[in-house]
Amino acid sequence: MVDKDLLSIQEARALVRAARKAQAEYALMDQEHIDAIVKAIADAAVAHAETLAAMAVEETGFGKVQDKKTKNILASEKLIEAIKDMKTIGVIKDDKEHKIVEIAVPVGVIAGIVPSTNPTSTTIYKSIISLKSGNAIVFTPHPSAKKCISKTVEMIRGVLNNCGVSEDLVSCISVPTLEGSGELMKIVDLILATGGPGMVKAAYSSGTPALGVGAGNVPAYIERSANIEDAVTKIFASKTFDNGTVCASEQAVVTDAVIADKVRASLIAHGAYFLEGDKLEKVKRVMERGNGSMNPDIVGRDAGYIAKLAGIEVPAGTRLLVSDEKGVGPKYPFSKEKLTALLGFYVVEDWKEACELCHALLKNGGIGHSLSIHSMNEEVIREFGLKKPVSRLLVNTPSTHGAVGITTNLFPSFTLGCGTVGGSATSDNVTPMNLLNVRRVAYDLGTVCCAPQAEQKAEAHNLDINAITAMIIEQLKQMA
Ligand code: NAD
Repeated sequence: MVDKDLLSIQEARALVRAARKAQAEYALMDQEHIDAIVKAIADAAVAHAETLAAMAVEETGFGKVQDKKTKNILASEKLIEAIKDMKTIGVIKDDKEHKIVEIAVPVGVIAGIVPSTNPTSTTIYKSIISLKSGNAIVFTPHPSAKKCISKTVEMIRGVLNNCGVSEDLVSCISVPTLEGSGELMKIVDLILATGGPGMVKAAYSSGTPALGVGAGNVPAYIERSANIEDAVTKIFASKTFDNGTVCASEQAVVTDAVIADKVRASLIAHGAYFLEGDKLEKVKRVMERGNGSMNPDIVGRDAGYIAKLAGIEVPAGTRLLVSDEKGVGPKYPFSKEKLTALLGFYVVEDWKEACELCHALLKNGGIGHSLSIHSMNEEVIREFGLKKPVSRLLVNTPSTHGAVGITTNLFPSFTLGCGTVGGSATSDNVTPMNLLNVRRVAYDLGTVCCAPQAEQKAEAHNLDINAITAMIIEQLKQMA
């Protein structure tokens, strides 16, 4: 019998070897051909969007079929719309004025690390962006979402086969272990890692170039000038979408004392239930595991399910369980990321205090990711934009939908960079352009004399070679 970790390591090596061979041929294709292949994959993903969504919900227990279907469509149809005219193969720019030609060079073989919270959509999205820029991708599935990720890969491989290119351009480890993932990360050319902090750290520690993007802990600030009804409606739409599994979903509402009662009343009218006393304690008991990390049993669940798990009664029609919270940190579970129907509620005096509180919440596990603000005051919005340590400030929009480019013009993406402050090499919504190198062919501008001219000048002036060098250095200095 072969040990599981050894099997997984061996499989990672075999898949990368096959992917390398396939990618070398694939990278020779032209843009038109590659665009046709990624379009065919997107079309198939749309056709299978619901089946894959249902599989993901059944296997992980997280989220809702209809919303996972929407995510699959965002990762295919909407993504293709955004990238269809993007030049990613061969010469991508010929700048005659500045005499620079830019040539796209695929990175090669990518390791795709996929979170359990968006398993099928992230697999579709990563496959399409990798192939669009001439790469192959090998996935290491989250063990709790192995079947639906493998099924998505199988669907994509079928399309590749129909298109007459090698299926090995997209593959998936069938025996996922941390050792197999570790090996995969060591032998690929780039890691495209989406998930929690442990995984992002593992990706960056592997020694291979990586785009690792991590956890969010998104505060939603409802400032006194906001349209409260609009803000609360959007927060509910966002927080209950796929039962809150999206990393950009709101984790706490922060609001000004002068409008706090109205905000609270509006939250209750939309289906919030404010937990108190024994009920609050019982919910807190099921929120986390012993080490303070999120309890997977409550992730991506609706309010009724969490109430039942905690052993409490809540009114019929409850959509979110909310807790008034005062502090931020390990002792306050509602101040952390909760990818489910749980929300913290904070009241502050004014936007300056909100600024500080949002900063503290972001530092509590979501630094560099996203922040949401509902306000009509452009000055306050600008202050938040200038000062908050996030890669996205989402304004008057549901933060889930805004961050992934459904209700904003941000790039449709399931890998949202957290910037260097969040331990990430990028602050972008990752696109195919993040998955290629650019070779620049730079032509001489004719501002410095070339060697024969320099020699002629040297003869005319009776100069030696040191003097010519000095002359060139002088010219360069004048240009600088
Ligand atoms: P996770 O970190 O538990 O797992 C992600 C993947 O990494 C899985 O495939 C897992 O098997 C693998 N993994 C975990 N630890 C590893 C290690 N030490 N070495 C190698 N591989 C490892 O994440 P999850 O619970 O599935 O996803 C939820 C988290 O991901 C949340 O914190 C959420 O905010 C974050 N997330 C971020 C984004 C983003 O775009 N920034 C998108 C989705 C999810």
